[in-house]
Amino acid sequence: MILITGGAGYIGSHCAVEFLKDGFDVLIFDNFSTGHREIIQNIQSKYKSAVFCEGDLRNKSDIDNLFKSYKIDAVIHLAAYSIVSESFNVPEKYYENNVCATINLLNSMLENSVMNIIFSSTAAVYGEPLYLPIDEKHSKKPINPYGKTKLMIENIMDDYDIAYRLKSVRLRYFNVIGADYENGLGEWHDNETHLVPIILKSALKNDFVFKIFGKDYSTKDGTCIRDYIDVRDLVAAHKLAYYYLIKNQISDVFNIGTQKGYSVKEIYEIIVEILGKKIPVEYAPKRNGDSAVLLASAKKAENLLGWRYKKTLYESIKSAYEWERYLINLKASN
Ligand code: UDP
Repeated sequence: MILITGGAGYIGSHCAVEFLKDGFDVLIFDNFSTGHREIIQNIQSKYKSAVFCEGDLRNKSDIDNLFKSYKIDAVIHLAAYSIVSESFNVPEKYYENNVCATINLLNSMLENSVMNIIFSSTAAVYGEPLYLPIDEKHSKKPINPYGKTKLMIENIMDDYDIAYRLKSVRLRYFNVIGADYENGLGEWHDNETHLVPIILKSALKNDFVFKIFGKDYSTKDGTCIRDYIDVRDLVAAHKLAYYYLIKNQISDVFNIGTQKGYSVKEIYEIIVEILGKKIPVEYAPKRNGDSAVLLASAKKAENLLGWRYKKTLYESIKSAYEWERYLINLKASN
């Protein structure tokens, strides 16, 4: 059985379905701090075998109970807080929930002889790029507390490998977008901060104006450039990483991105074109902790995992749009 922490969240829920589709026994664990019960219902309505347990990784006994109650073979660890601005305002929340909780999880794994973990890391571990595209060997100097917590966890995992041979594959995600809306899954944050859903929300609801953070970055149009990866391609990478880990029994790290960069302004313009309507926009000051450009080299994942992204930016944004409409209807009917 595979344990997926944070399985009621955006990436975790897509991950659960990716493994369920392939016939794996999946145990989803979540504390609903940012995940949603409706997502678990959507998963269980299609996959009756999916098991769900509510609990918090900060309580070691919650995790110990999981390992005592189920025969867990490997862990996919996604439970974390991931909002950069919040990580500046309340860093302790990030260090406790991301770092301390992961130590609890790793210790419980060791005590129960579960020695394989896939970990959701981030492009934020790199900080300001010294060269592009960023490969896995690039120096790691995170410029926000969120990125620091993820790098700390990667370092802890290295030390657990040296000391105990606990093997981990870390996937450094670039900017995740899109939705498996046909399976009732998508990005659902109560206080949304991410670019694509924010633009879609402002277009569909018309109750706030979308703001572009910063217009004088040293990029082609002055706005930040990011590498946008579809969540459905991202979770396919998790499955390949799982097979890689089980087969080779080595710890490793992979960037997961498309190697294509789009500026904030370009994303805005593409959404205007897809929706075929004007979306009000204004410029606002730069956001703390934003790198000017983040662009992945995903060659290593291509060569060693046999992974490559498949979805076009258009398909990803279209799916995010369908999901946003689903979410608005769901909220209206509640
Ligand atoms: N961004 C923006 N306006 C928003 C939200 C995001 O201009 O309302 C920009 C942000 O500054 C960054 C890019 O969009 O350059 C992607 O931000 P997001 O929060 O989606 O992901 P992050 O890069 O922080 O992981």
